[in-house]
Amino acid sequence: MLTISDPAEMRAWSQARARRGRSIGFVPTMGALHAGHRALIDDAHDRADDVVVSIFVNPLQFNETADFNSYPRPIDHDVAACEAAGVAAVYAPTAAAMYPEGFQTRVVPGALADQMEGPGRPGHFEGVVTVVAKLFGAVRPDVAIFGQKDYQQFAIVTALSADLDLGVDIIGHPIVRERDGLALSSRNVRLTPAQRAAAICVPGSLDAARAAALGADSSPASVRAAAVAVIEREPLARLEYATVFDQRSLVEVDGFGEGQPGAAPARIAVAVWFGDVRLIDNRELFET
Ligand code: AMP
Repeated sequence: MLTISDPAEMRAWSQARARRGRSIGFVPTMGALHAGHRALIDDAHDRADDVVVSIFVNPLQFNETADFNSYPRPIDHDVAACEAAGVAAVYAPTAAAMYPEGFQTRVVPGALADQMEGPGRPGHFEGVVTVVAKLFGAVRPDVAIFGQKDYQQFAIVTALSADLDLGVDIIGHPIVRERDGLALSSRNVRLTPAQRAAAICVPGSLDAARAAALGADSSPASVRAAAVAVIEREPLARLEYATVFDQRSLVEVDGFGEGQPGAAPARIAVAVWFGDVRLIDNRELFET
């Protein structure tokens, strides 16, 4: 397995593979790899000949310097995990290589970025699409795998590839969870044992929302209220938002469509704080 840190070297490697007729599957990450990332890598193996994983903690997408500085960076563990997962190349550029002096171009996302996470995290998705566009430019993938845990990110990157004719097939991989239902996240290691125990209220709130959705006379308001009640019962949890939304437009819905539950492809998403750790999660409401 190769580890590459220079964008031009990365592109040369990918182009050489492409000339040999090899397709490239790409998994962009910020490192601190866990079983959720591994599932994305396995998915990429099923869809392409060679898999590239990028590891880059992107300063452009962080709202808080403290969050950026405290983000875990176990690079040796990550490189070993990629090797064990059969990755062909790890792309781990330095911040100086990604944003050299004189760097000035940004990609501006559209309306999808104004919903959900958008208002509370100004500039976040601009940072995400800018770095994804740069990573695609260096890695030149045929297909890229994103997790549905970051559902809005997956939707915005799908639009990026389509709108800018990048030709990268964007796949949304289902959320990978711990046995007790908590979605795997690099930030989970920062939870105290008490916060970790409390954090099961996050998937619990989504389960309550789904149960409410499938009940008689359900509405987005009653579904949201069911989720909020579960989080508010947990003293260590602080709810930032809970939203029931159309999974194509990400716009909050006020009905489930023609009076039929399930007619709209609706999802619920929540963002919940435990101390200074922010967790997000979501699920479809009417999937079978
Ligand atoms: P990150 O390293 O947190 O930026 O995540 C890299 C990719 O892994 C993103 O596409 C995430 O959505 C995805 N990912 C992170 N955690 C999970 C999870 N528990 N299940 C599925 N995908 C995930």
